[in-house]
Amino acid sequence: MAKLDDLAAQCIKCGFCLESCPTFLITGDESQSPRGRITLSREANRLGRWDQATHEALESCLGCRACETACPSGVQYGKILELAREATTKEHGRAIRKPFLNALTQPNLARMQFGLAGLLPGGRPPAILSRLLSGELPQADAPRLPSPAPWPALEDHDLPPARGEVYMLEGCVMRVLYPDVNEATERMLRRIGYRVRKVNAGCCGAMHAHSGYLAEAESRAQSLAQAMPDDLPIIINSAGCGSTIREYGGVIGVGLEGFAHRAKEVSTFLLEHGLADALRRSPGLPGMVATYHDACHLLHGQKVKDPPRALLGAIPGLSLVPLPESDLCCGSAGTYNIFQPTKARTLLERKWANVESTGAGVVITGNPGCQAWIAQAAREHGQVVEVRHTLDVLEASFSGWRVGGE
Ligand code: SF4
Ligand code: SF4
Repeated sequence: MAKLDDLAAQCIKCGFCLESCPTFLITGDESQSPRGRITLSREANRLGRWDQATHEALESCLGCRACETACPSGVQYGKILELAREATTKEHGRAIRKPFLNALTQPNLARMQFGLAGLLPGGRPPAILSRLLSGELPQADAPRLPSPAPWPALEDHDLPPARGEVYMLEGCVMRVLYPDVNEATERMLRRIGYRVRKVNAGCCGAMHAHSGYLAEAESRAQSLAQAMPDDLPIIINSAGCGSTIREYGGVIGVGLEGFAHRAKEVSTFLLEHGLADALRRSPGLPGMVATYHDACHLLHGQKVKDPPRALLGAIPGLSLVPLPESDLCCGSAGTYNIFQPTKARTLLERKWANVESTGAGVVITGNPGCQAWIAQAAREHGQVVEVRHTLDVLEASFSGWRVGGE
């Protein structure tokens, strides 16, 4: 693969990325570092032989892309990983994973799976399924399906004049686990004058791309673009979907550079269109102390750090306290907590210790996977901390805090 070799050749082996890499931090093993993985992949690609050791080095990667943020040479590690995983998955991949991902990205099937798994003892998927998917015992509970109280109706006299339409990506996981976050996103858009044009759009291909199933990811990318043909902004509130769509035209999404350019990260769009001023005039959340966890595909994948903090900082009465290691992956990482449960658990416990050290009563994040995984830690540690999506908290500043979230 010439493309993989060209990308890997950008690495000058300086090692500046090592300390930013969660798997290197918890193992101290060079093969579990970005530099080690790039070296192994380049060599395997040159030989045309992807051995088991290289496969395992790539398997244990979170795909968090913290190494890209740290790299002074601009190495595009995420693209290297997707290409290398495609090669190694063909030889060593677990056959069950592709149908598993196919089911996870069909909302009706995913809803049924989560519901059934939630009925099992401990609310956790069966050990046999986890062993087939990962070779290890499960650590991730079936995500709970929260049932928050409905938002109050939005009155037209509370809203600014209409100024346009947008598309909104509902997301495979988001629409099943947190449909209220999609509703909050629509309400935020209306509060700055935008209406959401409804379309029947499917999966963006992110989970397949990150797992090495590039042909499946490509067909999903093309279908998504067909479902949103007009020249409108596409608002995205899931970090993982956003980083994939905004990079269409790279490894997947052939010819979809224009579509990628229309894709907008939600907090950035809201900030640029004046939501902070509206938030300052809202009732706010008096006395609330919260902290913010950076979803990797927001911070490292899309370089979005300040906009969510700026919006949350505009909420009257809300104290946002810094989270130590907020830029370190929580271990959720798409399907990482299902495919690599032991390492994911280590990272979750580290994240939780950092959350507890802040004394905050709420953890805010911008990705449904992080939200569900950190919410599991909150349940396991006595449910004294709530875990909410950024959009949920922003809407609460106008409409009040709702019980029944996570
Ligand atoms: S990926 Fe970047 S930071 Fe890491 S070793 Fe290569 S050049 Fe250095
Ligand atoms: S993507 Fe994350 S886990 Fe993988 S090499 Fe980069 S920093 Fe390490």
